[in-house]
Amino acid sequence: MATKGNIGVTTNNIFPVIKQFLYSDHEIFLRELVSNAVDATQKLKTLASAGEFNGSTDDLKVTVSVDKEAGTLTVSDQGIGMTAEEIDKYINQIAFSGAEEFLNKYKDNAAAIIGHFGLGFYSAFMVAKKVEIRTLSWQEGAQAVCWTCDGSPEYEMADCDKAERGTDIVVYIDEGEKEFLEQARINSLLTKYCRFLPVPIVFGKEQEWKDGKYEDTDRDKVINDVEPLWTRKPTDLTDEDYIKFYNAIQPAQEDPLFWIHLNVDFPFTLTGILYFPKIKNNLDIRKDRIQLYCNQVFVTDSVEGVVPDFLMLLQGVIDSPDIPLNVSRSYLQSDRNVKKISTYITKKVAARLEEIAKNNAEEFEQKWNDIKIFIEYGMLSDEKFCEQAMKFALVENTEGKFFKLDDYKTLIEGGQTDKDGNLVYLYATDKEAQYTHIKAATDKGYDVLMMNGQLDVPFVGLLEQKNEKSRFVRVDSDVIDRLIVKESSREVELTQGEQEVATTLFHSQVPAIDKANFMVAFAALSPDDQPIVVTQSEYMRRMKEMAQYQPGMSFYGELPDSYSLTLNTEHPLIKRVIDDAVKATEAELKPLDDELTATNNVISALRDLKKDDKDLTDEQKKDLETNEAHARELREKKTAAITAYAASQDTVHQLIDIALLGSGLLKGEALNEFLKRSVSLLK
Ligand code: ADP
Repeated sequence: MATKGNIGVTTNNIFPVIKQFLYSDHEIFLRELVSNAVDATQKLKTLASAGEFNGSTDDLKVTVSVDKEAGTLTVSDQGIGMTAEEIDKYINQIAFSGAEEFLNKYKDNAAAIIGHFGLGFYSAFMVAKKVEIRTLSWQEGAQAVCWTCDGSPEYEMADCDKAERGTDIVVYIDEGEKEFLEQARINSLLTKYCRFLPVPIVFGKEQEWKDGKYEDTDRDKVINDVEPLWTRKPTDLTDEDYIKFYNAIQPAQEDPLFWIHLNVDFPFTLTGILYFPKIKNNLDIRKDRIQLYCNQVFVTDSVEGVVPDFLMLLQGVIDSPDIPLNVSRSYLQSDRNVKKISTYITKKVAARLEEIAKNNAEEFEQKWNDIKIFIEYGMLSDEKFCEQAMKFALVENTEGKFFKLDDYKTLIEGGQTDKDGNLVYLYATDKEAQYTHIKAATDKGYDVLMMNGQLDVPFVGLLEQKNEKSRFVRVDSDVIDRLIVKESSREVELTQGEQEVATTLFHSQVPAIDKANFMVAFAALSPDDQPIVVTQSEYMRRMKEMAQYQPGMSFYGELPDSYSLTLNTEHPLIKRVIDDAVKATEAELKPLDDELTATNNVISALRDLKKDDKDLTDEQKKDLETNEAHARELREKKTAAITAYAASQDTVHQLIDIALLGSGLLKGEALNEFLKRSVSLLK
């Protein structure tokens, strides 16, 4: 019996549409045909286990072959096959029911068209000039059928001879698609799409080295792993299994740090394994290392939308029949199922990390610095994840000890609460450069955290937000007594005049440093503390740091760094230097001061007049200006006198340079000067 007919579509020709829209993805036809063959095989197994099919299902396989001469690629299975009625129903009718209406509606939306039809069997026409189906149904006494179609809506169907149960799909490859007759091309496509299919896929024969070349053996070459790791029970698997699988999917990488085996049945089905890779410092971050599968068929390695952004740094596989596959990205992102999946993955990853942190605390600490970037990124970008991660995120102190956030809080609560009840977290970003400040803090019994990760600047901000009444300050942002202000801090016992002399004495002698400003300040620290401490205001420094993350703030980035040179007024050296300076300049400053006081009196008297009587007379105005100019001149003279004295004081220079040296600011010529002076002082 032979029939001719039109495929159930009244649109002139659906095939040009398929070809046009799927142009870039022609290779997908192979995935679709092999998947159909696998489905047909699985269906037979289902029938067998239901007792409806009595034959053997032990060695069922799918075979892919190319015949270059005939110009064909054939996918053969030993599955359920089809009867003529079934071909009519599944191939001729179903695929295009309602096609015309739909095509008209979505003419311009390729993704929707693809999504509606599924690519299915008809995707073969992307690369074929003719497709032939030769099939024999599993049913008793079935008649083999042959169906051909050359890409027009017309097909032919006739009885034929086929001894073995199952289906051969013979694709007559189009002139422009000859690549699909190449062994190597097909091999790489099968590896890409079919590597983990559940039925053995045979392509060619195993080869053996013989007489100086490779020769085919008579053993089939199976290209896939029918039971990939994610489909197996986690309890049956060892660490080696996970690492081996990781190496198979991500060759040439260091072993992963952790992995998470995902497995959920409700409200959607999803399995998979996600690995935390070991990322090298140069930040080799790629976002295409999670592969998405649908029932073990590879779909894509771009999982944006399915996996939350911060987890794209992970690697591995996700398999879910519930992710709509052939749709556009924007559709994917708004899909409710997909959202649920994304939330689930986040939750699962957090739960697993929490579990490791709890049960393998030591291992977790060891690996913390490698995974910290994922976790901080996650905490900064995902509120829910942040909530969970607060429980297991670690901080490390300058001694290399790790603490959970809560534990750390408890640790410092006693000693690092200031007089207003704020908890002060001290941190350093560079153990070497900030050594003196770190030492001063630890000597005082404080603990100092290391915050030198790529995301630590915004992370510090996040922690301040999450913890009420707490503040992070870098150890070098003030002198130790003022980092955490306690009730008992000592008063500076210098008169105004002494402070004035001391300010100019030191300020005038700071060597010129590019893009840095200095101010002189006073603090009554302990006599054992450093004589001078260089600090940088936390606020300004953070503004500048944030500027790196936010382009709108680049203004702050341009500002010079402003430092404070804080004189420890309790230090014997500082006491002596100031004392000496006051004494040495007294004679010269006294008359200037007297005159300045007199001038200032005149100025304030004139200003008072102005306040009461609205306006001064012209003569009074002139008088005021003259006196103000004179006062300026006197102040300049004072500065000049102190500066001249200061310039000759090696101790002042030494003290400043030592402080700068301690903060890593003494460089170039200034450093050279310091070295020369130090040597000459030894004489
Ligand atoms: P889908 O696979 O999405 O249902 P297809 O267009 O690929 O759509 O296939 C349509 C139908 O044709 C299948 O559902 C199946 O019933 C039948 N079919 C396709 N390939 C085979 C095969 N190799 N063996 C048996 N039946 C097949």
